[in-house]
Amino acid sequence: NEVATMMDVPSTKIIGACMSLGIMMTMNQRLDAETLSIVAEEFGYEVEFVSAEIEESIQEVEDNPEDLVTRAPIVTVMGHVDHGKTSLLDYIRKENVIAGESGGITQHIGAYGVKLENGQKIAFLDTPGHEAFTAMRARGAQVTDIAIIVIAADDDIMPQTKEAISHAQAAGVPIVFAINKIDKPTANPDNIKTKLAAMNLLVEDWGGKIQSHDISAKTGLGVNELLEKVLLESELLDLKANPNKIANGTVVEAFLDKGRGYVSTILVQAGTLKIGDYVLAGKNSGKVKAMHDERGNKVKEAGPSTPVSILGLDGAPQAGDKFNVLEDEREAKQIAAKRTQLKREQDVRTTKNLTLAEIGRRIALGTFKELNIILKGDVDGSVEALTDSFQKLSTEEIQVNILHKAVGAITESDVLLASASDAIIIGFNVRPAGNARQLADKEEIDVRTYSIIYDAINDLKDAMEGMLSPEM
Ligand code: GDP
Repeated sequence: NEVATMMDVPSTKIIGACMSLGIMMTMNQRLDAETLSIVAEEFGYEVEFVSAEIEESIQEVEDNPEDLVTRAPIVTVMGHVDHGKTSLLDYIRKENVIAGESGGITQHIGAYGVKLENGQKIAFLDTPGHEAFTAMRARGAQVTDIAIIVIAADDDIMPQTKEAISHAQAAGVPIVFAINKIDKPTANPDNIKTKLAAMNLLVEDWGGKIQSHDISAKTGLGVNELLEKVLLESELLDLKANPNKIANGTVVEAFLDKGRGYVSTILVQAGTLKIGDYVLAGKNSGKVKAMHDERGNKVKEAGPSTPVSILGLDGAPQAGDKFNVLEDEREAKQIAAKRTQLKREQDVRTTKNLTLAEIGRRIALGTFKELNIILKGDVDGSVEALTDSFQKLSTEEIQVNILHKAVGAITESDVLLASASDAIIIGFNVRPAGNARQLADKEEIDVRTYSIIYDAINDLKDAMEGMLSPEM
């Protein structure tokens, strides 16, 4: 109806145009961007999209290359449960002593920065695990530069190890392996490296490209060398940011403190945040009244790759929300209000994530290039068979990517990965476990389960040919 009014055509004509694209619409439904463009074109209009995020002052200006300086890498630690993620983060937190300061980091603010002996810095996100990593990504936040994946040398490549690897790869984040617990007599790092090699993950001392180091998170053996390898990886990435502009970045965590009000930990990604700046973070805003680092020290400003906890926001933004500094408070408040409104509207919008039926439509529109699949099955044999068959469906126009495949039920972490990577989930003789089904419904992720290989392949093929019959 809104579009019809703008173009001054009867709304029935818009509905008709949608129908001819195979989309059933009512007057009050909202069209996604692609459909909107095509429909408008039919009536001789061109649509220009103005993102709700880039209200005038938040427009991100291209930096001049000469303003960019090297910034510290931001690292997330992932791995199977009990393989030593927390121990590693704790060890680094306790042992690291910034020049001129004694004692380790005592505050938990969700992220912390460390400085190595050679003066180089690394910022760690203090919520280990690929679930946290992918949940942020599903919210549109790309924060992590490098993933450390911890694998216990007295154990094996476990399901969550594989998940962590898939999640890092899907995000295009380089991996550094930490082969942990080598202080244990039963530790066998070579066994782990052999298994990684069998998964096509060749570590450096085996002639591959992936960095890896044997460590003990308990005694600290090898941890410094591990961090040096992280820095090496960071050099390859050539991470840069402009510190001489107003700040932007991402919210890491936020909570209400009885005495101090809302406390938000944010990670500055570009620019420099200063006390007195007006900050807009997600749907919240406010003037920065105080800033503290991970040691509880007051700080006046925070540059790129620096985590700080700030006081002064009028609420608790969500982890993964972007933050920006604005020129004046009124504007910050207006945008925050607009976002709240927009969020309300978005909640009633039509599907944003991919479904099999949606594939055919996007192919018809010519906007579809890659079909991402997460594949879970009951036994290795069927997972491999389906992987092969799915990959063979790739055509010149559409590449089929298996982002993650594993034996086991469909988990919440699979759903998050699907949401972050615009993928569909296919289960063979397995079902969603725990809250995975609810989460899939909420995130609008297409979860298809099959018990006949042939059916799974055929459905996918039909979808790619744009002929999938609507779901029963
Ligand atoms: P997470 O679940 O990955 O965070 O694992 P934790 O850090 O909680 O470690 C699980 C268990 O392994 C704990 O009992 C740790 O004390 C132990 N652990 C972690 N790293 C090492 C290590 O390098 N050597 C030994 N011997 N034990 C370790």
